This record gives sequence, C-alpha cells and structure tokens, in this order.
Amino acid sequence: MDLAYTEAEEEFRARLRAWLAAVLPGLPPKPSPDDWPARRAYDTAWQRMLYDAGYAGLHWPVDAGGQGATPTQHLIFLEETEKAGAPYVGANFVGLLHAGPTIAAEGTAGQRARWLPPVLRGDEIWCQGFSEPEAGSDLAALRTRAVRDGDDYVVSGQKIWTSHAEVADWCELLVRTDADAPKHRGISWLAMPMDAPGITVRPLRTPAGSTEFAEVFLDEVRVPVRNRVGAENDGWRVTMVTLSFERGTAFVGEVVACRRTLDALAAEARRNGRWDDPVLRRRLGRLNAEFRALWRLTQANVGESERTGGVPGVGGSVFKLRYSGARQELYEAAAEVLGAEGAFDLDREWVLDRLSSLAYTIAAGTSQIQRNIVAERILGLPKGR
Ligand SMILES: Cc1cc2nc3c(=O)[nH]c(=O)nc-3n(C[C@H](O)[C@H](O)[C@H](O)COP(=O)(O)OP(=O)(O)OC[C@H]3O[C@@H](n4cnc5c(N)ncnc54)[C@H](O)[C@@H]3O)c2cc1C
Repeated sequence: MDLAYTEAEEEFRARLRAWLAAVLPGLPPKPSPDDWPARRAYDTAWQRMLYDAGYAGLHWPVDAGGQGATPTQHLIFLEETEKAGAPYVGANFVGLLHAGPTIAAEGTAGQRARWLPPVLRGDEIWCQGFSEPEAGSDLAALRTRAVRDGDDYVVSGQKIWTSHAEVADWCELLVRTDADAPKHRGISWLAMPMDAPGITVRPLRTPAGSTEFAEVFLDEVRVPVRNRVGAENDGWRVTMVTLSFERGTAFVGEVVACRRTLDALAAEARRNGRWDDPVLRRRLGRLNAEFRALWRLTQANVGESERTGGVPGVGGSVFKLRYSGARQELYEAAAEVLGAEGAFDLDREWVLDRLSSLAYTIAAGTSQIQRNIVAERILGLPKGR
C-alpha cells in the first residue's frame, strides 16, 4: 500500500470532514451506558445517517451493498470520524465488522441480499454466539448441538459472554452438527433469529457495572437450514474468516480513539503539573510511538487483505496482541496522570473505559492465544501439546 494520500483521497477526506462538521452538532446526547434500548436506537440512527450519506459499508464490496472504497479511504474514514468525535459503531459492531463481512465473503447471493442491506442501514443488530462455558479459547470444543429435522436444525445448548444479546435481532451462531467427527470438522455456522422460540437471554453484570454481556440458553430452537453460511460441518473454516475480520480489522478505528485519549492525557498532565515528571513523560511518549506504530501496522494489514481478496491475514493477531496491551497501558498511565483524587473526580465514562480496557486482552481471543497463533502460523514454531 502507498502510504502517501492521492488527490482523490484528500478530496474524499475533505468531503467527509465537511459532512461531519455539518451533522455532528445536531446529534442528540449519548444515552446512559446501561440503557441498552436507547443505545441501540442511538447507534442504529447514526448508522442510518452514514447509510443515507453514502458512508455505510465503505470498504465492503459493491456486490455486497458496499461502496467498494479503497482501503485507504476506509482508513481515512476511521481517522476522520474518530478525530471529529463521531459516534462509535456501538451495537452495530458484530454486524458491520465481522458477521456482515463473513456473509459477504462466504454467503450465497440470497444470503447476502437478505442480511447485508439491513446491517448497512442499521435496521438489524447482530450478536456473536461463539463462546460456551467450557469452550472459550478452545473454541472447537463447543457442544451446542444442531440436529437436522426436515428443513430446520433443532439447536440446544448454551452460549456465554454474548455481547449485545439483549438487543440483537440475529446471532452468528456456532453449532456442532456432527458429534462423531474430529472436533474441528463437525461445526456449522448459522444465522439464528434472536426472536425464535426456545431462546432465553440472561444478562450478566461486569465488574465495570455494565450489562453488555449475557448468557444465552437454547432449548430446541428451530433454525432453517437455509440460514447456514458455508457447507454443513465446514463451519470451522467459516469461523476462521469471522475471526480474521474480528482480529484483523474490527478494532482499527479504536487506535485513533486511543491517540485522542493520549492527547487529552498529555494536556491534562501539562495542566496539573505531572508533565514535569520525566518518567511519566517518557511513558506517554512511548505510548505515542506505540499507537503510531499500530496505525502503520493497520495500514499494512488492510493493504495486505485487499491484495489477497479481502479477508485479513494472520497479521491481525499481531495487531490484536499489541493493541489490547497498549490500550491497558494507556489507562494505567491515565490513572497516574490523574492521581487517586482525580480518578474519583472523573466522570463515569473514564472510569468505565479504564475498567473495560482490562477486557481487551481477553475479548476476541486472549493474548496467550494470539501468541500461540503468532508462534505457530507466523514464526513457524512447533505446535504445543
Ligand atoms: C469484552 C468481551 C466481549 C466478549 N464478547 C463475546 C461475544 O460477543 N461472543 C462470544 O462468543 N464471546 C465473547 N467473549 C468471550 C471471549 O471470546 C472469551 O472470553 C475468550 O475467547 C476466552 O475464553 P474463556 O473466557 O472461556 O477463557 P479460557 O479459554 O477458559 O481461558 C482462560 C485462560 O487460559 C488461557 N489459555 C487457554 N487455553 C490456552 C492455550 N491453549 N494456550 C495458552 N493459554 C491458554 C487463556 O489465554 C486465558 O488466560 C467476550 C469476552 C470479552 C472479555
């Protein structure tokens, strides 16, 4: 990828900036973090505005309803929306950033036509039903089973840590369709409607006080066979596509947000006198270098995925590993800048951001698992036992 911007890309940036400057002042205030229906309404309204202005699914292929923009334009979009303080993707996260791209890459024409336009318009919200009580990092050990009955699968089992399950319309669901096959070979990837009879969603509260997660219990839920993406028992391969998007591209916009937070922190340190501490200044400087390097890595990864057909490569694991660690360090530095008193003076969002930064080395695959992937698939080291 050429790191210099072309005239057309700069024009795109200017147009986007002008649009953001026109629409952002008119947005209503963000709803409270625990009011999920209001958060859904807020996030989907923003997605609809993007759609109407031609900025939805910028980097999705045109035949999947996207704009077919270049990876650079997509990165400019992420950079400018973050810099302008535009709303984050929020409840549209799974649909836009990994279920949608998976369906675009692996779905049939009918599946693309059914599921992708509502994601782009913000009409339908997706959640991710991968993790199970005894199958998190060892995802292929999942036990939720789907038994074929005519034109349906009958699904029973339990999922856990399902973000946004309470407000989701659809779930990207992994099920075991062949109990006798080796564990990676008997899995299928289904799109499950969250209003189907037999689904019970039980919210979980995190230490940060958020009810982002839920347990999802599935009791003989009927899911049409036509909702399967990819072949029966070929779900592990489809899952690798989903995880590639999740680790490779889903967090990239947040790097810009972290840079904004870092700038705010440096300004606060100058204001409250902590800037005089050379150790702290070095720490902030190192974080600045880290986030700049991560942005370059993002550019390289996005460029690479464009060259190889749109699915991000294993380099996403390097990004995920470094990004999630740097995000935690950023909020540790924030606590140092603000001091104990400041920390208690902070508005709730700061405190929540610090607590939720702890989850980033777990969500979308733990750091230990990313290290295993880097060791085995990038460095070619022998597989562990
Ligand atoms: C904020 C957040 C949002 C999430 N959202 C969703 C969601 O929407 N949908 C969903 O399905 N899941 C979701 N998850 C779940 C997440 O994907 C799992 O928590 C994660 O995959 C780890 O699984 P586990 O919690 O079962 O930990 P375990 O697999 O029990 O792991 C425990 C510890 O052992 C280590 N470990 C395990 N196996 C190995 C190994 N082979 N080598 C080295 N170390 C190992 C792990 O790294 C970890 O430190 C979310 C998690 C978080 C934190």
